[in-house]
Amino acid sequence: MKDARWWHTESDGRVLCTLCPRFCRIGDGQAGFCYIRKNIGGKLFSLGYGTSTGFAIDPIEKKPLNHFLPGSEILSFGTAGCNLGCRFCQNWSISKAKLDEAQSVNASPEDVVKLALKHKAPSIAFTYNDPVIWGEFVVDISRLAREQGLKNVMVTAGYITPEARPEVFRYIDAANVDLKAFTERFYRRLTFSHLDPVLDTLKWLKRETDLWFEITNLMIPGENDDPDETKRLASWVVENLGDSVPLHFTAFHPDFKLTDRAPTPAATLKRAREIAQSAGVKFCYVGNVHDREGQTTYCPACHRVLIRRSWHEIFENHLEGNRCPCGESIPGYFSLDPNSPQSPRPRLIWPLD
Ligand code: SF4
Repeated sequence: MKDARWWHTESDGRVLCTLCPRFCRIGDGQAGFCYIRKNIGGKLFSLGYGTSTGFAIDPIEKKPLNHFLPGSEILSFGTAGCNLGCRFCQNWSISKAKLDEAQSVNASPEDVVKLALKHKAPSIAFTYNDPVIWGEFVVDISRLAREQGLKNVMVTAGYITPEARPEVFRYIDAANVDLKAFTERFYRRLTFSHLDPVLDTLKWLKRETDLWFEITNLMIPGENDDPDETKRLASWVVENLGDSVPLHFTAFHPDFKLTDRAPTPAATLKRAREIAQSAGVKFCYVGNVHDREGQTTYCPACHRVLIRRSWHEIFENHLEGNRCPCGESIPGYFSLDPNSPQSPRPRLIWPLD
């Protein structure tokens, strides 16, 4: 438990949490919507600080990140709770759990960084539940990790206030942001949150930071897979973030409260990829299905294969530093040493979990 940041006391004595756009007003002894920020005696505390619901060494492609240190391993962990209420949550056993229900273990920022170094993972991912709600822990770990030469990755829904963003993302090197749909109706009904703050975070990442980010859209049959919605989403990305932000369309499987839907057909993802490409997105991928073509990075200039993947494994990598052999510069961070002309060697990856 740690003193929380990003809050103040209201005139009625309750605490107002200003970390995420939910702006919970929290009475003494109560916790916010996310379960892990609690008012104790008129002060807000972060209960998730210094805890983990488990660690894994994942391939970085699992986050998913396809243009950031491809083929590398990443120490991944999360805490408990979440600031969204997604009815289709694919990680609900921890996102909907309170800390004591999620069988958390204690882990200081020093412990987390030591674990990454011990396993020779070049980066750490804050993931599994949304790291925004344990922003204080993210800041302390990521600062320490950077001092040790490690990279930091956030996997987030981007539901965070303008006030908290600069601090929480300060030492982050890369992020994958869930853009869950492109309608307010979906966000309100199925996530109990709102679309605009997420779009605002994406524009802020582009405008105010130099961290690398990619976007994931989990496609749920009948909810957010309408071709017109996909076209509007992709066009917004190109217009507001540029044509070089990788966009991942991933398959849903029935889970938590949304068990009356079928898994996303591979054909839906393939169609979404084609729509996004037509809208101008240069790097578009599909995930959670077998689709070699949809998981391959192609050079937008000469169209040759640059990185061939299958699920989270890399089979070919023809990049020379950040360049295609034809000379085209490919956006992203493809080598730990930004000055190195060498691309990482392709290798098979076996996740530990
Ligand atoms: S971070 Fe948690 S407590 Fe704070 S506003 Fe969001 S849901 Fe509420």
